[in-house]
Amino acid sequence: MTLEFRKDETKGALVVMADERSMRPTHGVKKGCPFCRGNERMTPPTVFALPYDRLRGAPARMTARRAGWRTRVFQNLYSALKRKGRFAWKDGTAPAFGDHEVIVETPRHAELFQDYSNQQLMLLWETYRARYDELRSRKDVRCVFIFKNHGAKSGASIGHEHSQITSWPFVPGMIAAEAAKSKKGHCVFCKLLKEERKNVLLESGHFVALCPSFAHFPCETWVIAKEHKRSIRDLNDAEAQSFMLMLQECVRRISGFEESYNIAFHSAPKGADFHFHAEIYPRKPIWGAVELGAGPVLNTTTERSALAILGGRK
Ligand SMILES: [Zn+2]
Ligand SMILES: [Zn+2]
Ligand SMILES: [Zn+2]
Repeated sequence: MTLEFRKDETKGALVVMADERSMRPTHGVKKGCPFCRGNERMTPPTVFALPYDRLRGAPARMTARRAGWRTRVFQNLYSALKRKGRFAWKDGTAPAFGDHEVIVETPRHAELFQDYSNQQLMLLWETYRARYDELRSRKDVRCVFIFKNHGAKSGASIGHEHSQITSWPFVPGMIAAEAAKSKKGHCVFCKLLKEERKNVLLESGHFVALCPSFAHFPCETWVIAKEHKRSIRDLNDAEAQSFMLMLQECVRRISGFEESYNIAFHSAPKGADFHFHAEIYPRKPIWGAVELGAGPVLNTTTERSALAILGGRK
């Protein structure tokens, strides 16, 4: 079994070689869904669950066993990263050191993110935050990345709604590139909020959803904090609620256009300034040789069309 980071020096890219992941179950899981309530034995043990059993003061794991959980977290059985040994590069190779957890967002198999109650949405937020704090506090962690895959074309292997949270001993390339341009006072996201006002799809007191003019995917939408906030830890309750409701509304609209999507939650790496946002990629096109073998991305849908499709302001 191989679980390693490998440097691709020809392109300055990074590969996580994880052959165990080829054993992952796929959509048609025969023995039942491991993410459904009652099937907890099919996954590694619960490391966190909500709501807490506040009265009994019982640990989250007990709560999960008592079958009352609304969100549940456990280690990814087919991890791309593992907390084992020490992180060190040698000849362009290093152990794939880090954490990789699955967050089951709802006990109900067929319930979709866009249909969650406000309460369920906020339990999910609380789960994101708690795991973010925990992973960030661990030794040798430079960056925590939360993401969500939904639908067959997104890379999701199980249909039941879930997110994943990962921790890394370095800052992954795209996040590092954004961090380098997110210093307060010279922040590319603060600038974007001003320059792309006409591409705003939704707006609340604390957040803006916009279709960037340089989107990689048709109807790609970003949810960006109006103020320069560094990470999900910096949002108060009102801001968190505003964020989750807006994210949900974006997914609701996008799902009318394309079922499969990914969400990347971009927060500050340790010690860096940043501008918190989430990027939603609707996975309509299949990328070809220009995207894979040259770099430029072909997008067939302008931001004007995207706003019209998603029902934004004209
Ligand atoms: Zn299920
Ligand atoms: Zn900013
Ligand atoms: Zn970003």
